[in-house]
Amino acid sequence: MIRPALSIVVPCYNEAACLDVLHTRISAAARAVVGDDHEIVLVNDGSRDQSWAVMERLAASDPRLVAINLSRNHGHQLALTAGLDLCAGERILIIDADLQDPPELLGDMIATMEAEGADVVYAVRRKREGETFFKKLTAAGFYRVLDRVTDTPIPLDTGDFRLMSRRALDALLSLPEQARFIRGMVAWVGFRQVPFPYDRDERLAGESKYPLGKMIRFALDAVTGFSTAPLRLASHMGLVLTGLSLLLFAYIAIGWLSGSAVQGWTSTMLVVVFLGAVQMFVLGMIGEYLGRLYVESKRRPLYLVADVAGPVKGRASLGY
Ligand code: UDP
Ligand code: MG
Repeated sequence: MIRPALSIVVPCYNEAACLDVLHTRISAAARAVVGDDHEIVLVNDGSRDQSWAVMERLAASDPRLVAINLSRNHGHQLALTAGLDLCAGERILIIDADLQDPPELLGDMIATMEAEGADVVYAVRRKREGETFFKKLTAAGFYRVLDRVTDTPIPLDTGDFRLMSRRALDALLSLPEQARFIRGMVAWVGFRQVPFPYDRDERLAGESKYPLGKMIRFALDAVTGFSTAPLRLASHMGLVLTGLSLLLFAYIAIGWLSGSAVQGWTSTMLVVVFLGAVQMFVLGMIGEYLGRLYVESKRRPLYLVADVAGPVKGRASLGY
């Protein structure tokens, strides 16, 4: 297999308005460091807009561009997986389609990779422009909670924007799981990984493709994929509640001994409702793990490709 020096992999969902500028800016950035020896892999994740038509046009105009059309919307992490699986480069840059992550940093990222002898250079967000207060707050909270509960240290404030070596990517692709939290999986893989601080720009066009529902699912995939701490929470809560119930027992015994036992509808209801809620919560948490176990056990392909435009140089190892 002839490997290009660099692959740039971009998952796209309803990004028609960004694709032309994206193509111009990433080709220029790639050309500045490796000349013609690169490929651009655009993955259309079942967009409802004109993204695929634009990609086909771009593929016809640029022999270095490969466009992959997934059979439907598989979600950001699986679209990215498809692109990574089908790219062939010696080095791989992952970037979003909305140009929030400036492709012009590529040169410096490659320089950092070489200077540090690193396998992964991950971009850490110093500032986030043009994102809502809610998004910034939830994101900041998410990375910190994740850091507390996971067993794998996952870098804070780091998205998927990163440069990887072929051996780090091959290691990543050897992880077969369905619920993919790629930034965590890369951290798990190890090798030498170095941070690269940058300021995140505003989205070029359109709006975030991560509504609240998707964000919650993404966060749950992250936590369940990298920690079993929530499963242990049940036994911790059980312990605390046992302590509390001993206190309550003493209180009831005193009431009974002093002959004022019948009152207490309020406290009884409180205890019943509280315990019911705790049990539901814990059951739900077990359900999150069980559901994922079930999905994994079906061993379905991670993604399905409907069409390809341009020369696919990589060989799929995972998906189909
Ligand atoms: N994306 C995707 N499939 C989806 C949702 C998003 O491929 O189902 C892509 C999207 O086109 C973008 C990247 O994932 O290139 C990150 O999404 P977005 O910029 O909307 O997320 P945000 O930056 O708001 O967190
Ligand atoms: Mg974005």
